[in-house]
Amino acid sequence: MTVFDTTLTTDERVAALKRTLGDRVIVADDPGYDHARIPWNVAFDQRPLAIVRPETAEEVVEAVRAVAASGLRVAPQSTGHAAGPLADTDLSDVVLLSLAGLRGVTVDADTRTARVLGGSQWNDVLEAAAPHGLTALHGSAGDVSVAGYALNGGLSFYARTHGLAVNAVRSVQLVTADGRLVRASANEDPDLFWAVRGGAGAFGVVVSLEIDLLPYADVFAGMMLWDAARAAEVSHAWAAWTATAPESATTTLRVINFPPMPDLPPFLSGRSVVVIDGAILETDAAASALLEPLRALAPEIDTFTRIPSPELVAVHMDPPGPTPAASVHSVLADLPADAVGAFLAAADVPGLFMTELRHLGGAIAQRPAHAGAVGSVDGAYLAHTLAMVPVPEAMAGADAAVQTGIAMFAPWRADSLVLTFIDGGGVDRDAGFGIAIERLRELKRRFDPSDMFAAAHPV
Ligand SMILES: Cc1cc2nc3c(=O)[nH]c(=O)nc-3n(C[C@H](O)[C@H](O)[C@H](O)COP(=O)(O)OP(=O)(O)OC[C@H]3O[C@@H](n4cnc5c(N)ncnc54)[C@H](O)[C@@H]3O)c2cc1C
Repeated sequence: MTVFDTTLTTDERVAALKRTLGDRVIVADDPGYDHARIPWNVAFDQRPLAIVRPETAEEVVEAVRAVAASGLRVAPQSTGHAAGPLADTDLSDVVLLSLAGLRGVTVDADTRTARVLGGSQWNDVLEAAAPHGLTALHGSAGDVSVAGYALNGGLSFYARTHGLAVNAVRSVQLVTADGRLVRASANEDPDLFWAVRGGAGAFGVVVSLEIDLLPYADVFAGMMLWDAARAAEVSHAWAAWTATAPESATTTLRVINFPPMPDLPPFLSGRSVVVIDGAILETDAAASALLEPLRALAPEIDTFTRIPSPELVAVHMDPPGPTPAASVHSVLADLPADAVGAFLAAADVPGLFMTELRHLGGAIAQRPAHAGAVGSVDGAYLAHTLAMVPVPEAMAGADAAVQTGIAMFAPWRADSLVLTFIDGGGVDRDAGFGIAIERLRELKRRFDPSDMFAAAHPV
C-alpha cells in the first residue's frame, strides 16, 4: 500500500482521492452531497468530508485503498440508523462509505444459512428466507442493516430462546485497514472474527456475512393494547408475568404517546396507550395458556395469533421510513414493584414519545462458548426512552426528556449496555463491550494501527 504524505492538506488529500476514484467521490460542493449524507435518523445532521457509495466488493476494496493512501478515515454506514452515536466522531477527515447499494441475499436451505451482502437490510433476508420456511434473528425494524445490527449484538423477538444475533454470524468478509479483502471465521483469521463480532465497523468494511437462519415458517406473535389510563395495572401485571415467563417468550412493554397526526389511524391519533408485544415460540395452545393472565386484563386490541414469520417485523410498529428521534437506554438488573413505579413515572415525563421495557434474560444472558467480543447481555430488562425531534431546534428538549425519563431507573441499573441501543453521543461504550474491551483495543491496534475506521461504537 502507498504510504501517505503526512504534510498534505485536507484539500490535497481529497484531490488525491478524486484522482483514484474520480466522480465517485462526493464532497460538500457537489450537488448530490446533501442527499447522500442524510442518515435514517434524520435528527443527526452528519457532514462527512466526502462520501463514496460502492456497489460491489471490488469497489469497496478500491475505496478503502484510496482512502488509506490519502491519509483520511473511513466510516462504513449501511442505513444511518446509528447516526446518533457516530455523531461523537469528528467527521471533518472522514469519508463516509455508504453501503446502501451493496444489497443481496442468497439462502442455502440445506445448511439453513444466508449469505448477505454488506448493506442488506433485514427485509431482504426475510423475503429470501420465507420461501424456504426460514427466518432470522432480526430486530423490530426491517430496514435496519444486517451487518450493523448483527455485528453490534442484535436483540430480536427470538432472543430469549436463541440469544443475540451476533452469535448466529458464521463468517464475515471484510476489507481491512491494509486494503485486503479477507474472510474471517472460526477457522480463518479467528482473532479478527472474534473482534468484528462486537467491534463491527471499527475493524473494517463488511462486504458480506454468512448467518444462521431459524426454522420457523410461522410464529405465535402479536400485540395487546390498552388505554394509558390502565398503564399501572398492565405494567405491574407484565412485570409479574415476565418474572416467571419461559425463555420461549420475548416481549416488550411500552407506553406510547401518539401526537395528533392525520397519518395515524384515528383510534391512535392524539392518544396515549400501553402496549405489550412480542413472540412466543410455543404451540398455539401453550402460547394461549401462557398469555391468559395478560388477556384477563381485557385488552382493547389483541392481535396475538400464529402469523407468517416475515410478519413479525411489523409487530412492534416501528416507523416505516427515516425518522428524527433521540433515545437512551439502561440495562436493569431487576424489575421490582418500585422499578415498575419508575417506569410509570418515566412514561409521564413531558416530551417523551415512548417509554419501553424489553424483557432480557434467558439465552440473551448466556454467552456461547464460540462467541466473539460481544455474545450476551448481563441484565434482566432493558429500559428505553425515546423522543421525536421534528425540527433541529427540538433536539435539546428531546435529549432532556429522554435523560429525565431514564434517570428514574437509576437504582436498578446493571453495569452493562446494549450496543445497538446506544443511540446518541457521549455514552461510554465500554459498558457495551464489557470484559472484551481490553482485547478489542489490543486487536484494534493490530488490525487498524492508524485508527482509520470510524465506527458508531469506537473501541
Ligand atoms: C426504529 C429502530 C428500531 C430498532 N430496533 C432494534 C431492535 O429491535 N434490536 C436491536 O438490537 N437494535 C435495534 N435498533 C438499533 C439498530 O440495530 C442499530 O442502530 C444498528 O447499529 C443499525 O445498523 P445499521 O447498519 O442499519 O445502521 P448504520 O448507522 O448504517 O450502522 C451502524 C454501525 O454499524 C457498522 N456497520 C454498518 N454496516 C456496516 C458494514 N457493511 N461494514 C462495517 N460496519 C458496518 C458501523 O460501525 C456503523 O457505524 C433499532 C433502531 C431503530 C432506529
